[in-house]
This record gives sequence, C-alpha cells and structure tokens, in this order.
Amino acid sequence: MIEFILNTKIISGNNALLELDLSKSKRVSIFTDNNMLKIGACDSTINLLKNKNINYEIFSDIEPDPSFEIVIKCLSKILSFDSDTIIAIGGGSVIDTAKSVIYFALEVNKRMSDNLKKPIFIAVPTTSGTGSEVTSYAIITDKETHRKVPLVSNEMLPDIALLDPQFTMTVPPRITAETGMDVMAHAFESYVSVNASPFTMPYSEHAIVGVFNNISKAVHNGKDIDARIAMHELSCIAGVAFNNAGLGLIHAMAHSLGGRFRQPHGRANAILMPYVIEYNAKNCEKSAKKYAKVIDLLNVKNIDDVSASCEILKHLILELNKNIGINQKITEYGVDKNEFENAIEEMASNALKDVCLLTNPVKPSLEDVKNIYRKLI
Ligand SMILES: [Zn+2]
Repeated sequence: MIEFILNTKIISGNNALLELDLSKSKRVSIFTDNNMLKIGACDSTINLLKNKNINYEIFSDIEPDPSFEIVIKCLSKILSFDSDTIIAIGGGSVIDTAKSVIYFALEVNKRMSDNLKKPIFIAVPTTSGTGSEVTSYAIITDKETHRKVPLVSNEMLPDIALLDPQFTMTVPPRITAETGMDVMAHAFESYVSVNASPFTMPYSEHAIVGVFNNISKAVHNGKDIDARIAMHELSCIAGVAFNNAGLGLIHAMAHSLGGRFRQPHGRANAILMPYVIEYNAKNCEKSAKKYAKVIDLLNVKNIDDVSASCEILKHLILELNKNIGINQKITEYGVDKNEFENAIEEMASNALKDVCLLTNPVKPSLEDVKNIYRKLI
C-alpha cells in the first residue's frame, strides 16, 4: 500500500511574503532566533502585520537543537497570548520548535478535552536544506541526557510553507554548500528508499538534477536570485519526497558522526554520500539502476553500463563537494585521526540503530558501516 501526504500549501517566489493572505489571523506569534531578529530577517513580516493592524508578539529565544524547556516556554506564550497563528521564521530549529509547540498544544488539548483550536501554522524557512516546512518530523533535545527525541505527527505539518528566496540571499557560502548537500542527500535517499513510490520518485529525481545544476551557482554567487529560488524550491521538493519515502544509510551514519564529532548535519551527509552510494550500488541492483538513470538525466555521458554509471556518479559527487568547498577528509575539520579511528566502532554501532536505516535499500553489517567511515580518514 502507498500513502502520499502533502497537506501543506506551498507559496513560492521572490518577495512571496508580501502576498501572504493573513485575513484569518488576528493574533500572531512570530517564532525566530535572536540572530534572525538582529539581521532584520523578521522586519518585512513585522511591517506586514503592522500595516494590516494585526496584533503580534515575537519569541526570539529559540536556539539550535531546541530543548523541551524552550518548547514549554513557547507553548505557555502562545496560550497566554491566545495566538491564532504562528509564523516560524528561521532554519530547521525554529520550524521544529513551532512544530513541537503545536504537537504538545494538541496533546494537552486532547487530555484536557479543551477546545483549543490549532493555530494556523506558517513556516518560512531561511535556509535551503531541511525541508522541515513540509515534513511531519521535529527533533527536540533532552538537555539532561543529550538525547535527541524525534516527534512524528502529521498534525505538525505546516498549513503554509512560504518560500521566499529573499530570506536566503545573505546565507554565507559554507552554509549554502552544506545545507544544499543536505537537500541532495534527502533526494538520493528518498529515491532509492524501500518506500520510494511512483508518487515520490519524480520529486527525488527533480531535486537531484536541480541540485546538481544550481548548488555551485548559489554557493559562488549568493546574489544569483534564480539559483537561490531553485535551491529553496528543491529543498522543499526533496522534503516532500523524504517525508513520504524516508531516508537511509547516509543520514543514519551522519547522525552518528555529527553527534560524536560535532560536525554540521549537511557536511556529514555530503562527505558520506559518495561512499554510501557506492555501497548501495554494489549491493542492490535496483538502486544501481536508479543511480545510473541519474547519469542519463544529467546528460553527462551516453553510457549503457550500470556499474560504470554508478562509478561516474560517485566521482561527480566528489567533484561537486570539492567545487563548493567541502573537504572530503574528516581530519580537515579539526578531527584527530586517532580519535576518529577509535570512535568508528561506536559510531557504526549507533548508526545501525538509527531509525533512518529502516528504509535504506541494503541492510549493512557493522563491518560494512565501519569500512565506509574509514574512507573519511
Ligand atoms: Zn537531512
């Protein structure tokens, strides 16, 4: 059986924010972080609310890796302000916080049999990476145990995803590169996932080709509005694909690596991607054929041999990483070689427990995962 969910209205375009219909909103809570507020990323939204005489409050204490404490603070804020609308302006952490607030508000409501109406939820991503604006997942961190707790519920899906490239124009090259390769990882993993379907694969294919064609332009010229719009839309499109098809070994290994050595999520995905693709291609014929199709779609070379195409794909990703300034060796990010080698066993064992592995086309052994980590040294 196939289930495909896309409950979010997507509005995309340059200055799309200015066209936002807020006719049903009377009391708006803006969720953001202090940096966004400082650089003026919320100014256009605030002006819009002022011009429409809509009451609003701003909650800007959201930090990276949001905690339960922050979620509870935000929840009590929206309850005391009686918000009918939440606008989340920021990266994955801000949007995840808003999702969690809605999740817990509805849980409280169910238990108290109260009649709290679900606020209208508008997600405004300011980076092109997580696709969080169209996914039913949120990650909250338990500060005491340092554990990341995933929340999954379709009720957390934003009502509106507002994709306005103006929010991404000042994102620096390194972040553009790393978050962009996160999009590529979402696209590739949903494409070969065991839950990939005719409904998800066109999204994955479109995102893979699109990232190949646009990421370098966005990294090397941040003012390239067409490349910025493309990357912002591709992030959302890949989000739709993985929200329905799931992820795989790249993310399972990246979560473990990122947690142990504090490496950004997109970077960890980017450096693992060529080797996980190589591994999946060698161990799953169906995936190999899909990877080979990507080579056709990219019009790189007219080549009939599937394994040769997979090898070309691996090298294309290695070249792309290099072109956008992502170094392939973990030691180039200040990680000590011996410390990394000593951590491989534990990282591999944690990666095997990661929920993302459930939809990878190949079930790897501990030794397989260790061998892939070793390629980063
Ligand atoms: Zn990701």
